[in-house]
Amino acid sequence: MESPVKAKARALVTGAGGFIGHHLTKHLVQLGYWVRGVDLKAPEFDASPAHEFHLLDLRRWENCVRATADVDEVYNLAANMGGIGFIEANKALIVHDNVLINVHMLEAARLAGVGRFLFTSSACVYPQYLQRRTDVTPLKEEDAYPADAEDGYGWEKLFSERQCRHYAEDYGLDTRIVRFHNIYGPLGTYDGGREKSPAAICRKIALAKDGGEIEIWGDGNQTRSYCFIDDCIEGMVRLMRSPYREPLNLGTERLVTINEMVDIVSRVAGKTVGRRYDLSQPQGVRGRNSDNTRLRAVLGWEPGTSLEDGLERTYRWIESQLRSRNSITEPSRAAVSR
Ligand code: NAD
Repeated sequence: MESPVKAKARALVTGAGGFIGHHLTKHLVQLGYWVRGVDLKAPEFDASPAHEFHLLDLRRWENCVRATADVDEVYNLAANMGGIGFIEANKALIVHDNVLINVHMLEAARLAGVGRFLFTSSACVYPQYLQRRTDVTPLKEEDAYPADAEDGYGWEKLFSERQCRHYAEDYGLDTRIVRFHNIYGPLGTYDGGREKSPAAICRKIALAKDGGEIEIWGDGNQTRSYCFIDDCIEGMVRLMRSPYREPLNLGTERLVTINEMVDIVSRVAGKTVGRRYDLSQPQGVRGRNSDNTRLRAVLGWEPGTSLEDGLERTYRWIESQLRSRNSITEPSRAAVSR
């Protein structure tokens, strides 16, 4: 049975200075929650609307104890992560940091008597042997085992999923586990090395001249499905309200190649761009898609924003950011034609 939001329920959002955590904080405040945000850094592009915002390093036990004091619900999003280039090059660092954050946060939440604890896992938990073809069969939650997760980042997520289950079974902590599939949207990192493919492609096209060329990692035929940030937030809050304790996919089922995504963003930008393929760069698995059968059954809902709409909103935001940094000087064709 769904549980209603308690009047002035107190929520902790970790990773509240990051992309998804910042959007989630805004949404929870709008829903009437009292929100404490915690992160190593403040949100980069916008002030946090959290009632309290603490700069804390959650690898440290005593900071997890401070963060979880007097809250009803924990949305645990803090993680050292980034796009494929970052996670391939930093496996030891990612596993070290994220194991410490997640084991400390679970234990601190248990000791604090937290009512519900949501862990943000990833499609990177799915076995590499199921993702070797571009026309990949969509991944169901039970496909995670026998395990052969993404090396480093994916194994840590799988380990922390299991630790959530152990805390639920051994201690009665009421846990939720969501597996995100490529979340994108405005206010996400778009440069610096941690950005994901939609933001990187929007940036490259925004910076390219009409008729110019952009670099693509791999041959551009690798496939993924993408989920717009508003749908991600809606799904996460719905899952927290539901009684469902097993891991749940949160993504879309529309499989596209990187080349198709470039086509969509080029149309939004009103530019024709050539492609230079760099096969030496990491591209992750060959194909990955979400099977939403269980998502629909559990939440009676699934993401509804079209990729065209989501990419348009993301592109416009990234373009405006670059323009305000004077990285783009000439007027965009879209702006001129309006
Ligand atoms: P993000 O990098 O924007 O946000 C993560 C935040 O965690 C950052 O602001 C970072 O500073 C913070 N953090 C890192 N180490 C910390 C520490 N030691 N103490 C406190 N804060 C710390 O990433 P995001 O896209 O918002 O992802 C949020 C969560 O969702 C993460 O757990 C991530 O693994 C998961 N996830 C995201 C995606 C996606 O497509 N964005 C996909 C799968 C899973």
